[in-house]
Amino acid sequence: MTSPSRVLVIGIDGVRLDVLREVRTPHLDAVAAEGFLAPVRIDDATPTWSGPCWATVATGVSAARHGITHNVFTGHRLAEHPDFLTLASLAGKRTYLSVGSWEPLATAACGGPLFAAPDRVTFTSYGLDCERGDEAATVDAERELVAADYDVAFVYLGDVDETGHELGVGAEYRAAVERADARVGRLLATVRARSSYAEERWTVIVVTDHGHVDAGGHGGDSDLERTAWIAASGPGIVAGAEMGTLRHVDVAAHVYEAIGLGEAMAGLPLEGKPFASV
Ligand SMILES: [Zn+2]
Repeated sequence: MTSPSRVLVIGIDGVRLDVLREVRTPHLDAVAAEGFLAPVRIDDATPTWSGPCWATVATGVSAARHGITHNVFTGHRLAEHPDFLTLASLAGKRTYLSVGSWEPLATAACGGPLFAAPDRVTFTSYGLDCERGDEAATVDAERELVAADYDVAFVYLGDVDETGHELGVGAEYRAAVERADARVGRLLATVRARSSYAEERWTVIVVTDHGHVDAGGHGGDSDLERTAWIAASGPGIVAGAEMGTLRHVDVAAHVYEAIGLGEAMAGLPLEGKPFASV
């Protein structure tokens, strides 16, 4: 019997790469040490809003195809370009979504949900108290990732972005990045504590959608806003290897490849490719 291949994707909203490299993030550092941490340039046709950027991550196609250009998803073409949790579920995989705070990822608010039909959805919101929402999303994932055998999970953390909007990129923002890293650490520990972990092949992908200007906020064309990043480790990812140009569309392609659906999805108009070193 082949060992089950599983994927955990953690989406942390609005984390600037330069700040990430300055603050204390031991758990993300560990993922990077076992694999890579590399910048992603948001393409010029995609506004640096969460809606279009997360849609590109989830669907593996750019805004011209998925049709989401802002944080209201009305007019989207997600039915033609579904998210990777939904397509993995349709292909027989078990999938899980845990979202703190931001409704359109998981609910019908604002034209959502981006993730249409995962097997299990947990949505926890405390309004603009994203820190509390992130904690609830993490606690739920700590339970679910042990209680069930998910092939693909996506956990979303929104506190860093909200802190940036409210307070700018300062001490509080930096502290929020460190809090997010602590939650990454708890999720990784949960996966490693699975009784069957030794027989499983886990891929971990951590990704942000966009950056922030110093005063807090995004949506513009500055390098600070257009620079996102991906960190990942797992089977086929060589530790410390130099990566080629990475794009948000590569996340879905890598997820499919990692769970053995690369060929099954070959007929889709996916724009990305699995992560590969140069
Ligand atoms: Zn934002």
